Amino acid sequence: MGVEGENRQAVIDSPNASPFAELGRELEALRHENLLRDRRVLESPQAPRVTIDGREFVAFCSNDYLGLASDSRLIAAAREGAARYGVGAGASHLILGHGAAHHALETALARFVRLPRALLFSTGYMANIGIVTALVGRGDAVFADKLNHASLNDAALLSRAEFRRYPHGDLVALENLLAASTARRKLVVSDAVFSMDGDIASVPELLRLCERHDGWLLLDDAHGFGVLGATGGGVLQHFGVSAERIIYMATLGKAAGVFGAFVAGAVELIETLVQRARPYIYTTATPPLLAHALLASLEIIAAESWRRARLATLIDQLKWGVSGLRWQMLPSAAAIQPLVIGTNDEALRVAAALAGRGVLVPAIRPPTVPRGCARLRISLSAAHSEQDVALLVAALRDVEKES
Ligand code: PMP
Repeated sequence: MGVEGENRQAVIDSPNASPFAELGRELEALRHENLLRDRRVLESPQAPRVTIDGREFVAFCSNDYLGLASDSRLIAAAREGAARYGVGAGASHLILGHGAAHHALETALARFVRLPRALLFSTGYMANIGIVTALVGRGDAVFADKLNHASLNDAALLSRAEFRRYPHGDLVALENLLAASTARRKLVVSDAVFSMDGDIASVPELLRLCERHDGWLLLDDAHGFGVLGATGGGVLQHFGVSAERIIYMATLGKAAGVFGAFVAGAVELIETLVQRARPYIYTTATPPLLAHALLASLEIIAAESWRRARLATLIDQLKWGVSGLRWQMLPSAAAIQPLVIGTNDEALRVAAALAGRGVLVPAIRPPTVPRGCARLRISLSAAHSEQDVALLVAALRDVEKES
């Protein structure tokens, strides 16, 4: 147990001594169900080989799908950005925090995803809250896939629009909800690549339903941007779709290797977000050096398609390697490859046994995934080697034999 765990344990062990005694008891209940989460302290850059507590592990835990988070060209660009613009933006975008690097990045992002205009947000979480609350409110309705990311659900709740969730991927249920709705504005929201299952939403069908029922379609492509499509353009490029009613959102802290998020779409849509999206307006702009680094990242994403090809090869190797295991992989073509274990207890046990063999894979438990579906969320990166994946497969086979 690390220092954090020891401190936490002391609080849990003396639950009545604190004015937060009730919270202590709730934490104890979480511990009982194996639902307490722990933070590891990373001592190295994010990469396939990481150092924790002085020990090296092969890690399958990051969203750094293209292996750019510690790319030397991005580090050089960040340094150059710091030298040119300083380290802090110092103000919100609407005051005087919107710099030349942010502006150039927005132009480059719009071009990259072939949409009229783009707007940067500090994080994907904030982008989703900002988009949904700026666009819908009382009298409107949000229609959401049951497996959408938490930020989309929080956004819908905060917006005060009617919030209707349909079973994962169930387009018939969605169509019924849309057909029955009398809401003023209808906003359909969906992860493009589902963050815990790795499957890709049926975007052309979602778009068709939105067209039929005059709805807007918000796609959260956090896990597809940079990974899907010939030049990494994401889910729209993957399906070859484009439509004015699409509100495209993606994050820049995953495949792009840096930090932040953006929304792209029609000019009126983006201008409305500038005027109304509270997490855009009431926050300090991200350091411009990050925008400068992201300009370099976009060029690498488009030019180095070998990274996407390599990811595809590693995904095949992993799938082939784990076939026949007692635990099942979910059918995912993305960098997220979930191996469903079942109980929290067993998922934690398998993750710990892998860590004992020098392999880190996160165990994902409720409420992030449904009860009984605890899983290892294996994330692959173009920076992994075939030996890394072979090591993971061998470790999984050993752990299965022992349990
Ligand atoms: N949407 C999805 C689907 C995500 O997986 C995440 C991050 N886990 C986010 C949004 C939030 O993005 P950020 O980390 O930039 O806040």
